[in-house]
Amino acid sequence: MVVIMEQGASESEIEAVINNLNAFGFDVHRSSGVNHTVLGAIGVKPGFDIRIIRVLDGVADVQRVTEPYKFASRAWKNEPSILEIGSARVGGTEVVIMAGPCAVESEEQINITAAHVASHGATFLRGGAFKPRTSPYSFQGMGEAGLRLLRAAADRYGLGVITEVTDVTKVDLVYSYTDVFQVGARNMQNFGLLKVLGRKDKAVLLKRGLSATIEEWLMAAEYIMSQGNPHIILCERGIRTFETYTRNTLDLSAVPVIKRKSHLPIIVDPSHGTGLRNKVTPMARAAVAAGADGIMVEVHPDPAAAKSDGPQSLYFEQFAELVRQIRDIARAIGRDVPVAQATPSDA
Ligand code: PEP
Ligand code: MN
Repeated sequence: MVVIMEQGASESEIEAVINNLNAFGFDVHRSSGVNHTVLGAIGVKPGFDIRIIRVLDGVADVQRVTEPYKFASRAWKNEPSILEIGSARVGGTEVVIMAGPCAVESEEQINITAAHVASHGATFLRGGAFKPRTSPYSFQGMGEAGLRLLRAAADRYGLGVITEVTDVTKVDLVYSYTDVFQVGARNMQNFGLLKVLGRKDKAVLLKRGLSATIEEWLMAAEYIMSQGNPHIILCERGIRTFETYTRNTLDLSAVPVIKRKSHLPIIVDPSHGTGLRNKVTPMARAAVAAGADGIMVEVHPDPAAAKSDGPQSLYFEQFAELVRQIRDIARAIGRDVPVAQATPSDA
């Protein structure tokens, strides 16, 4: 941490800052310039609130030199983390595709969607059984019956399962059906949930909160990792801005920022990111070009009849075309989309 004193700060103010830093266990290196005295505070104190120093008399500014997160940082682990989940490798050269409806609605709906997305290169079947809806009057999901249908459909077509866990009381139930826990945007700072997931041995896909900074998002990942679970995939899904022509603003610059700051894989969800079907494919292309390790998209056999997020759900043909397009882009940057797995396991 670097403390810059105000021009003309008195000797007693400088000494008070040094004494404060020493009391917190920092070694202090003092250098006096022509106008400013600068104090270098040496020592690693995770969680230290720099405002404690910023409010002291005579202090002009305080800058952190190290990141407030540890396990999620490149400083901790320089090479990219590659998560092996079933046959998938997330964070390597593969661009993984997670696809499926917003919510599991029926056996037929999830089965035909699984068959379609598997035959076009998806590795994971998504689908919510517990839906965190903005309105309590909207469809809340099928619960355990939905989890059962999702697992069966995924197994039939050789897919992994990713589904959302909305609160701590559902963790064990969801664990018994899923391969990857999804933590939704609305739960990114549900620290109790993050800590419980941090003690599990399954991967967690952590969505960025609606108005979370990238640092807050990495701190949420740190909650999980600090409990011992290093298997995390970050998911950019759009943030809230003043723009109204799209549901959210998909922050694709998060991809190169995360790649620089963290070793964790990052995927992009252009469905929630834009909220509109005709914007999903262009943003999926852009996400892959930006270096995302995968994409998550909503696909529905009859979007007009979907119980949730129909307007942003792709038609089957659109999904097939999206995969063709992102495969070309992936190849252009030395990556690939895994080949399709078409046949049901009991065929
Ligand atoms: C979802 O993936 O269905 C979902 C609810 O996403 P988010 O948490 O990003 O809104
Ligand atoms: Mn949705």
